[in-house]
Amino acid sequence: MGKLTEEQRQQRARAGARRKALQAEEDDRHQEEKREQWQREGMYLSREELIAGHPCRGCGEPILDGLGNRPPLLRMTSEERAEYDAEEARYKERHGECRAHRWTVSGSRTQHCGHCCPPPPMGEEQARAIAKILFNHKTDKRHLNDWDLTLTCDHTIRRTQHRDHQRYSTSVVQCPTCGERRGVIEAVLVGPTEDSDGKVQQERLATELRAAKAKLERQRKAAIKTEQRIADIAKELGGTQG
Ligand SMILES: [Zn+2]
Ligand SMILES: [Zn+2]
Ligand SMILES: [Zn+2]
Repeated sequence: MGKLTEEQRQQRARAGARRKALQAEEDDRHQEEKREQWQREGMYLSREELIAGHPCRGCGEPILDGLGNRPPLLRMTSEERAEYDAEEARYKERHGECRAHRWTVSGSRTQHCGHCCPPPPMGEEQARAIAKILFNHKTDKRHLNDWDLTLTCDHTIRRTQHRDHQRYSTSVVQCPTCGERRGVIEAVLVGPTEDSDGKVQQERLATELRAAKAKLERQRKAAIKTEQRIADIAKELGGTQG
């Protein structure tokens, strides 16, 4: 097969990005269906049930197993390592095809599957931490960037994200036009969300202007050099003929 043209390469990259976005969208839909099923079938454990030692309603394994946190891999004794390897193999056998994250509860070792096992009830501390993150992100607009997202439905929407992130970090978002959750094919950084007096915009334009002027200057110098060279050649030519 011959070399790809630039256009063909871009086309392939676009098709790849779309495939990935559609996959993320499908995984998200499965997860949402699971959540609805868990809710419907009363699969979630209450805090009381969890503390009383009820096993996971997804996989039947204990959640609070009383084994304590697992030591780091490098500090395991050979016995601990063998036990760990056996557990890994057993987990892969049960959830190898699930393509989901794993979760454990602090102080326990038994691993549960993000696809099969309804998550445990949230501790109060955890709930507070999450509320704090959400609250901060909503209020402090000065730390936000605007992003334009192209979705699998080909709609483009604008979203904000904390400017610490170099890339847009969410792979599936709600499309207000379709009313569906859609995979993100492409995310383009627009700039700071809050720029009411246009200061950031102005600075950006000033930088662009400086860059354009510098380029023009370089081109002028190159043109002068070329003119000089043409004049030199013409002179030389005239000299040999005369
Ligand atoms: Zn489980
Ligand atoms: Zn699973
Ligand atoms: Zn849409």
